Amino acid sequence: MSEQVYAEIVVDVPVRNVDRVFSYIVPADLFPAIKFGMRVIVPFAGRKVTGYVVGFSGITQVSQEKLKPVLAVLDNEPVITEELWTLARWMKAYYLCTLAQALKCMVSPAVRVKAAGSYTGLWIGFADNQLAQVLAKLNRSPKQSAVIKAAAGQPGLSPKALADQVGVSSATVSALVGKGLLQARTTSVRRNPYPIKPTGIPGPVLTPEQAYCAGEIIRAIESSQSQVFALHGITGSGKTEIYLNVIARALVLGRKTLITVPEIALTGQMVNTFKERYGDTVAVLHSALSAGERYDEWQRIRNGDSKIVLGTRSAVFAPLSGPGLLIIDEEHEAAYKQDDQARYHAREVALQRAKLSGAVVILGSATMSLESYCRAQKEGPYRYLSIENRIEQKPLPQIKTIDLRAETHKGNPGIFSLALLQKIEEKIRLKEQTILFINRRGFSPIVICRDCGFVLKCPHCDISLTYHSDLTLRCHYCNYISPVINKCSNCASEQLRFAGTGTQKVEEEIRHIFPSAGVLRMDADTTSRKGAHAEILKNFLDGKADILIGTQMLAKGLNLPNVTLVGVINADTTLHMPDFRAAEKTFQLLTQVAGRAGRGEKPGEVIIQTYNPEHYSIKAALNNSYKDFYAQEMIIRRELGYPPFSRLIRIILSSTQSALVQSGAFLLKECLLEAQRDFNPHGPDILGPAPAPLHKIKEKYRWQIVLKGKQALILRQLAAKGIDIFESRQGNRLLSIIVDVEPQNMM
Ligand SMILES: [Zn+2]
Ligand SMILES: [Zn+2]
Ligand SMILES: [Zn+2]
Repeated sequence: MSEQVYAEIVVDVPVRNVDRVFSYIVPADLFPAIKFGMRVIVPFAGRKVTGYVVGFSGITQVSQEKLKPVLAVLDNEPVITEELWTLARWMKAYYLCTLAQALKCMVSPAVRVKAAGSYTGLWIGFADNQLAQVLAKLNRSPKQSAVIKAAAGQPGLSPKALADQVGVSSATVSALVGKGLLQARTTSVRRNPYPIKPTGIPGPVLTPEQAYCAGEIIRAIESSQSQVFALHGITGSGKTEIYLNVIARALVLGRKTLITVPEIALTGQMVNTFKERYGDTVAVLHSALSAGERYDEWQRIRNGDSKIVLGTRSAVFAPLSGPGLLIIDEEHEAAYKQDDQARYHAREVALQRAKLSGAVVILGSATMSLESYCRAQKEGPYRYLSIENRIEQKPLPQIKTIDLRAETHKGNPGIFSLALLQKIEEKIRLKEQTILFINRRGFSPIVICRDCGFVLKCPHCDISLTYHSDLTLRCHYCNYISPVINKCSNCASEQLRFAGTGTQKVEEEIRHIFPSAGVLRMDADTTSRKGAHAEILKNFLDGKADILIGTQMLAKGLNLPNVTLVGVINADTTLHMPDFRAAEKTFQLLTQVAGRAGRGEKPGEVIIQTYNPEHYSIKAALNNSYKDFYAQEMIIRRELGYPPFSRLIRIILSSTQSALVQSGAFLLKECLLEAQRDFNPHGPDILGPAPAPLHKIKEKYRWQIVLKGKQALILRQLAAKGIDIFESRQGNRLLSIIVDVEPQNMM
């Protein structure tokens, strides 16, 4: 027998103390199928589990009798690249997750799907950057150069499709194959989620501000600097056009681009823009694609057929080799933080990927996170670029606040102020469009007994039930549904009050007040079906409705030119959350939703209804002043020692047994205090334990401890050590433990 080879394997077992690489024997019959980055089945602790191959070795420290063989190989080709494996190890160190959790984030659930049928397509037979030279050589045969241009623009067309597209005979195409300028490859029939052809229309001329920003970023790409740009442009300032210009240059230089947007709802408009400009080299990755589409897009990225990848959070792990440009659009969005398994933030992962490949990063936002803005100040590591004007000299919308207290005093108990109703009516008359924003779905978020004050709650969660207009009560955390009841479950009184306002209530009242107006609603309930988002937006864009009512999913990035009025029904919903980012989230949301107004020919107006018109986050949004908000918020963050003046790690313990989780939380605190003795006495603060603000979710009680300190590394070391001690003391393992490094959500 030839020399034995051992595979180094990470097993997919959710236990921290087996979170390392194990050696397995590779049986002869699995050669040469087994490769780095493939998934395999291995025996582990008496079970068969999935593992990831992360290396090979000719030697092992493990004694022969303990070694077990790999049982089967699951993939036809690797699903993890060397670069992603490096990233996984960084994630383990940074986010205190397990290697298996990190690797799981990277493997698209679709990669096990089979390829569709196969066919032969044509690719250019030389490197992209030689295109100009090749075309110069072909200058005497316009037909041949036209074919080469078409093949470069749309790689993978069949010989016939290519000939038809250019309008030449198939002999012309064959001749180029004969010369080696075109290469035939057999490939799978592709499932293309967005078959959009490039228009060939050049983009608009950049404004001086846009041109300056694009120029600075392009300079960094050209000189191969690994630089991070904080691109801070007000809403409607044309950040996307800057991205497109920078990407065009990156393409010419042969650099690949990865761009993420925070929500699937936003990919539609962005994909159209990108594909119309760059055609088929754009690949799209998000969870609403079919498994087959995702598989094919993933393949195109890995094979290098796609040079531009556009997707949502997990697209940050797209298997393109050595990206040269990473763009995180709307970098402030909390949706970039994954909230289970490995709790990574796509922005931080992108920054790390850029470090590995020496890439340029653009963090784009109109309402930059305090953390990023802070890092872009004079002494900070980021380069700050700002755009202060909207494109085409369009004015920012005029914003007005309406004090709801005064409205109540005037004897108006309704959910709309008089001023807002007058404006809506005016817009309907002028055939202009209105967006009404309320950050709660359902009809009424609270059902309360007038006699005893009892609030109806989900039996599984510590969350009040939302009344929905289909006569149900629903829990928005666990999806518990019950028919609406007409008696208080505490005192049997029939005096139930449906309090508060959700999207359905706004819709019902608007239809009542403006019976002839066209009304659309966009929230999680109307968009659960695939394609529903795009359909609602298209209907609204086509002018099939006067008013669009929705939650925060319509606050972001959308470009709806005929919208001249935005009404915020209640600006206070985010303001009073028990979260140190409540003011920041309020400012961001108001600025973003206000930014939907006046993006077309006509100027926009915004009406913000609030009980707190003097709150600085609302005032700053009113004045379109990020700087005012930043100055005020930084004072408060400094006083309280919250980020960006410190780093946080939130540790959550949970269990179905209330007493167990409470005593566990106190034990964890002891373990952390013990671990802290190794650090200097001015080490991180250990806050808590305390019940989490959402104390019970899906039958599980939750307690939390928050670590707060200035040095991220020490904070992580303390958490890791404390948890190690805790796990060695805690015999029964009935508690689940979640470690959230740099949490976005404190609930
Ligand atoms: Zn609901
Ligand atoms: Zn529930
Ligand atoms: Zn009652």
